[in-house]
Amino acid sequence: MRIDILTLFPGMFEGPFSESILKRATEKKLVEIHVHNIRDYSTDKHRRVDDYPFGGDAGMVMMIEPIYKAIKTLKKERAYDRVIFTTPDGELFDQKMANYFSTLQNIIILCGHYKGIDQRIRDHLIDQEVSIGNYVLTGGELAAAVMTDAIVRLIPGVLHDETSALTDSFQDDLLSPPVYTRPCNFKGWRVPEILLSGDDGKIQQWKLEKAIERTKKRRPDLLDEENTGKD
Ligand code: SAM
Repeated sequence: MRIDILTLFPGMFEGPFSESILKRATEKKLVEIHVHNIRDYSTDKHRRVDDYPFGGDAGMVMMIEPIYKAIKTLKKERAYDRVIFTTPDGELFDQKMANYFSTLQNIIILCGHYKGIDQRIRDHLIDQEVSIGNYVLTGGELAAAVMTDAIVRLIPGVLHDETSALTDSFQDDLLSPPVYTRPCNFKGWRVPEILLSGDDGKIQQWKLEKAIERTKKRRPDLLDEENTGKD
């Protein structure tokens, strides 16, 4: 998979992309992540990428030309499955969307900044608009990093134990059950006996019960009709 990120602040990706799973996935060539500075596509001699809004209002607006040029340049090189814009008024990003994006070959993620981007970019150049939550960030960079992390860890071969992504919260509309490690007794706080029993069938049943119990308590909205059969 290849992910191209268009941003005014490429430095914001250095930390998240050079550690842990994203670093390993890139080194193993399971994903190619390219971060492009939108300023490099500016047609202005001062590399300007924003301007005052028509109609007057506070804040600056990202201009259409540099973004148009950046997307066109990338699209000349390969076909893209999706051009995604990060925006608080977009579709809410969730695990299902991450699963779907992880099956795609090439995607572009555009990060907005300031007051936002010229609406004509959204109307003519964007396939999908995605929000990572009901709050406003300063820019789309953190949203793009969050989405990239959630997507890349689902690409086969990225996680050491591939089943571990499948048992994460939300994969089956259930939250994850509690997990424990050694020591089995810490100051009298004991690990549930069942986990030490060696009976895999009973352990799996216990994990499912705990997952359902936790979901009912914390996120009853996830237990739609599909999951009631598991109760
Ligand atoms: N004026 C915009 C509004 O009220 O919808 C907010 C602009 S915000 C300060 C600047 C940029 O940050 C947005 O264009 C978007 O790319 C990004 N952004 C902010 N919040 C986001 C969120 N919850 N999810 C995804 N991107 C977000």
